[in-house]
Amino acid sequence: MSSASLALAERSAPRYTSYPTAPHFSAEVGAETAARWLAELSPGANLSLYLHVPFCPAICTYCGCHTKALRQDAPLTSYKETLLREIELLAASTPARNVRSIHWGGGTPSMLGPSRFREVARVLSEHFRMDAAIEHAIELDPRLVDAALADALVESGVNRVSLGVQDFNPHVQKAAGREQPYEVVERCVALLRAAGLQAINFDLMYGLPEQSVEDVIRTAKLAAGLSPNRFAVFGYAHVPWFAVHQRLIDQAALAGANERLAQAEAVRETLEAAGYEAIGLDHFARPDDAMAVAARGGTLHRNFQGYTTDDADALLGLGVSSIGKLPQGYVGNIGDTGNWRRAVEAERLPVSRGLAFSGEDRARGAVIERLMCDFSVDFGRVAAAHGFAEDAFDAAVPRLETLLHDGLAELSGRRLAITRRGRPFARLAASAFDAYLEAKAARHSVAV
Ligand code: SF4
Repeated sequence: MSSASLALAERSAPRYTSYPTAPHFSAEVGAETAARWLAELSPGANLSLYLHVPFCPAICTYCGCHTKALRQDAPLTSYKETLLREIELLAASTPARNVRSIHWGGGTPSMLGPSRFREVARVLSEHFRMDAAIEHAIELDPRLVDAALADALVESGVNRVSLGVQDFNPHVQKAAGREQPYEVVERCVALLRAAGLQAINFDLMYGLPEQSVEDVIRTAKLAAGLSPNRFAVFGYAHVPWFAVHQRLIDQAALAGANERLAQAEAVRETLEAAGYEAIGLDHFARPDDAMAVAARGGTLHRNFQGYTTDDADALLGLGVSSIGKLPQGYVGNIGDTGNWRRAVEAERLPVSRGLAFSGEDRARGAVIERLMCDFSVDFGRVAAAHGFAEDAFDAAVPRLETLLHDGLAELSGRRLAITRRGRPFARLAASAFDAYLEAKAARHSVAV
């Protein structure tokens, strides 16, 4: 199989921000199971909190997130009130108190505005104990940041921000439905730094409509000139059957597989030349950044936000559609705002789906996480460390044949290493260890 065909195949492989992946969650795990799992956490457990705010002032055409456009203030106040009650409900459900990291995502979580944001952060700190070395991060839209918001973030303990930048070229911004001149981002960065926020991440994208290799290089150079600490660089995923507003994007204006690979490679070269270290599939960081240090030390992790240095014992999700990870399994919140609110008002954990880990899920998840983070794993050792025979996952080897044959991966005993050239195909290598994909394929075969 050529690299181009592999790239096409890669598009249909999961991103493995979790294993098993979210489509395999079921209603078998609901509020009662989540309550039992939360109660079983040890009082000394370290927690990570994720808060989801599913609103944006307008929807960018390329967006694939769980969010909706909102222009009134009242739904924000109502959402904040429910979040406050959910925080109380969660705190009453578990003896664990120590929070090592907080991440606000969306949507545009800063749409809450300074005073509602302060209130939620205050109530969080009343119910949980914030670790001295906490990482408190939020995703921001540079067009909506002003001095009052920056001050509220700093006062609430936020110490890392991610700015949605995507691309600096006006023709790409127009085609992607998000117009945001370079000067807006430049001003936003200056304002955040003046307020005391020094840890700044940029999100960039390739594969957007009308975007070329020259466009991504220009964007990466301009972005690196603003000296953020980290970059996340994502490929645009065209899924108009799921994100209906993407139907406004002209399919003919989208890059093919080879062009996407060339764009991803051009961004990597540009950022590396500017002094950033490549981390995992799609992150870059300054060599002294905690993520670069973790990547070099083999302690990088992967969660629903992508790569992370967070090694908390449990991730608790708050807000509509958020997902948590407890030692026993995944718990997913209700995806509809009205039903989420009604559950919280009835003092019931708003959990509608999830998955209880089997021993095999944990072992396969560990193999996949190491492959995605380190590009290398001894799957025999991981199997043995989880109480399985060393050859438990040998059935993956025939599925790796194309990658091995094309020099995109190498196998020595049971140590699988993805080569430099093979890195864009790490998800395919990981999928060889995914027992759920196999089960699905088997069902399809029978059906046909
Ligand atoms: S700001 Fe982000 S979450 Fe909101 S519509 Fe645009 S891309 Fe989606």
